[in-house]
Formats: sequence, structure tokens, C-alpha cells
Amino acid sequence: MKLQKPKGTQDILPQESAKWQYLEEFARKTFKKYNYAEIRTPIFEHYEVISRSVGDTTDIVTKEMYDFYDKGDRHITLRPEGTAPVVRSYVENKLFAPEVQKPVKLYYMGSMFRYERPQAGRLREFHQIGVECFGSENPATDAETIAMAAQFFKEIGIRQVTLQLNSLGNAASRAAYRQALIDYLTPLKDSLSKDSQRRLEENPLRVLDSKEKEDKAAVAQAPSILDFLDEESQEHFAAVRSMLESLDVPYVINTNMVRGLDYYNHTIFEFTTDVAGSELTICAGGRYDGLVDYFGGPETPAFGFGMGMERLLLVLEKQGVALPLETGLDAYIAVLGEAANRSALELVQALRNQGFAAERDYLNRKLKAQFKSADAFRAKTIITLGESEIESNQVTVKNNETRQEVVVGLDQVQENYQAVLGKLGC
Ligand code: ATP
Ligand code: MG
Repeated sequence: MKLQKPKGTQDILPQESAKWQYLEEFARKTFKKYNYAEIRTPIFEHYEVISRSVGDTTDIVTKEMYDFYDKGDRHITLRPEGTAPVVRSYVENKLFAPEVQKPVKLYYMGSMFRYERPQAGRLREFHQIGVECFGSENPATDAETIAMAAQFFKEIGIRQVTLQLNSLGNAASRAAYRQALIDYLTPLKDSLSKDSQRRLEENPLRVLDSKEKEDKAAVAQAPSILDFLDEESQEHFAAVRSMLESLDVPYVINTNMVRGLDYYNHTIFEFTTDVAGSELTICAGGRYDGLVDYFGGPETPAFGFGMGMERLLLVLEKQGVALPLETGLDAYIAVLGEAANRSALELVQALRNQGFAAERDYLNRKLKAQFKSADAFRAKTIITLGESEIESNQVTVKNNETRQEVVVGLDQVQENYQAVLGKLGC
């Protein structure tokens, strides 16, 4: 047996997990401002929940699903994305019921699974933070949800993100465009990749989404979907654009962006950024007004996006953004001699009970080794505790940065360490 993690997965080790927690917390705070609440759905779903909504002919469903039959012979899949499970839950739990709480705004964060060829920013288990807003067809919902993602990127410190915007229009517009695209691509069929030749039959819009060079060349002169939008679709898109402009959210129109999932209509968007010369999508989403109805719920317009956490972290690292992580200790207790063991236990607990992050030596090591530990744990202060300190009821507390020291009563450390920290300028 190979005792290694499966290909395309990652162990998130303590130094990294601090960044993950920071990102998650930052997202929670941002979403709260927009009145979003968290939803947690299962990591696996019935296969049909995904296949029927994401689309039977999409890459996700045809190639990338982690699906299996469980012991009860149910066709199950690990979730490859967050929207279909949230819509399934929204309908199943009748979250559409209370009129007063509309729109219903939900966010999620967690693992997604896709059987893909692993590379930088592309894993088999990856993590998404996503939002879904149900019950508003107002273009202001499109604009504010996109603005929320833009605010998140800006405030966390990511620079040079490009918002790419497009519209798929309503069903009638898309049908008209689909035919125009077939007419355009059919004479070029032989120059397309194998996958895209198949896509042309099954799902021609997908060809626009292909990452293959030959396909990109073939679609460069393709007709623009924006020329096929009917009046309603044009009005919606124009409103979204002008609202983004009034919010000072810059965007570029990319008529070849169609997104890899079937359920979208009207506005779709991606936030991309350049990483080492190649374009990486860190967030993607759009409007999906038909999906709730498709799952058996009442007709409900909806809008959402998902962002990839691994890619966010990659971009933060490449751009040299230092996250303000609070991982240090408030105090480290250096323990001198076995006789001080019990007092050290009581003291470290007293600090923790006051709300401080505190650690101590457990191994009766030389003082020098203990000070090294204090540095490694980035302790703000060091308290030295031995038999003589216990006898005199006085301890020396050192500011581990400035080296300033104060001698204070043991009871003060036990009861009001904040005051001791104040004396040391911490
Ligand atoms: P791509 O075109 O890069 O394959 P996608 O269109 O399949 O992306 P979505 O389904 O829209 O991606 O997922 C939303 C976000 O999730 C992406 O923008 C990306 O940040 C992230 N993501 C998607 N697939 C992966 C993966 N395999 N590994 C890491 N992150 C991913
Ligand atoms: Mg993909």
C-alpha cells in the first residue's frame, strides 16, 4: 500500500491553514455586510443532482466526476461544484417560503472534487467559497454580487484582477445564437480539436470555452452573442453594465466567455488575473434563472459565483501579499526545575482562563532551549518560573521583542496579565 496522499490532493499544514482561516473569515465578514448566511450541504449528492443541472455534455459531467455506486447501489458523486447542491437544498427545504425574507442569500465554503489533470491551481480536491442569491431578477442583484467579489479582492490586497463580463441572454436569444454559431463553425469543423468536434454536435457554445489552441484560433472570429440578444436581454445587460459603472467596478466585455456549466442565462462573469504569464480564473459566476424551477421549485431567478481558494492563495503568494495573521503567543512560561511543574500548569491555565494564548515548557529543558521555543512560537512575553519565584511570589516577565523586563507579583500574572502586558508596552 502506498502511504501517500492521492494525486491532486493537498495536506493543508498548520502554517498554511492559518492563511485559509484568514481567507474564510475575511469572506464571512464581507458576505455578512451583504446579508448572506451560511449553508452547509453534504459533500456527496445523488449523481443526477449534478448531471442534470450542470449539464450532461459538460466537461465536469462527462470527464471529471468522482462518482460511484454505494453499498445500497445508489449512484452517488462527490460534489464537483456548489451551486447544484445549494439549489437542491433550497428546493428540498422550501427555503423559498417566507416572502418577507426575500431574496434568500446563501454562502458556502468547502471541498469540491473533479477528476482533472493536476497542475498549478488545478487539483482533484479543491476548495470553493461561493454565494447564491435567490429571488431577485433585478439587475442590481447582478451588479452588487459582482461588486461584492470585487470588494473582497480589493480589500484582501489582490491587485490587477480583470472582471470579464458577458451575457448569454434569455433562452430565445441563446437559441438564435446557437444556430449562428453552428453555421459559423461547421465549415471549420476539421480544424477543431476532437473534443470540440463533439461539442459542436452536442453543445456548440462549449466550443467557445475550449482551452485548446486550434479551437481558440477557430473561434476568434466567431459571431458575438451580444448581437443576438433580444430586447429584454439587451435591457438587462445594459442595466448591469451601467450599474457597475456607477459603482466604479471596471470590467471588460468578453463575448467568447460562456462558462463551463449549462445552467447560466443573462449575465455571466469571471475575475481573472495573470500568474506567471498565464491567465488564471479566480472567481466565476452568473445568473441562472431556470435552475430552481428545473429542480421542482417555484420559478425563481438566481445569481451566484464561486471562487477557488487554492487559486486565491496562489495569487496572493505570487503578488507578495502578506496576510496579517495572528499566530503568535501572548506568553511563554519558561519552567526551571521539576519542582515548578505544578505551579507552571496552574499559571499557564490562569493565563488561558484570562483569554490569552499561552504555552509553557513541559520537558524540563535547559533555559536556552526554552527561549528558542518562545521565539519559534513568536511569544510576545516570557515568564520565568522556578522554585525561588514560587517562594518569593514574584516573577520576571520579559518583552521578547524589546527585551524590557519587569518584576511583578505572581498573583498579578494570575489575575490581570493585561496590566503586566501594559507595563511592558505590549
Ligand atoms: P476552469 O476553466 O479553470 O477549468 P471552471 O470553469 O471549470 O474553471 P468553475 O466551475 O467556474 O471553474 O469553478 C469556479 C472556480 O473554482 C474557478 O474559477 C477556479 O477558481 C476554481 N476551480 C475550478 N476547478 C478547479 C480545480 N480543479 N482546482 C482548483 N480550483 C478550481
Ligand atoms: Mg474546469
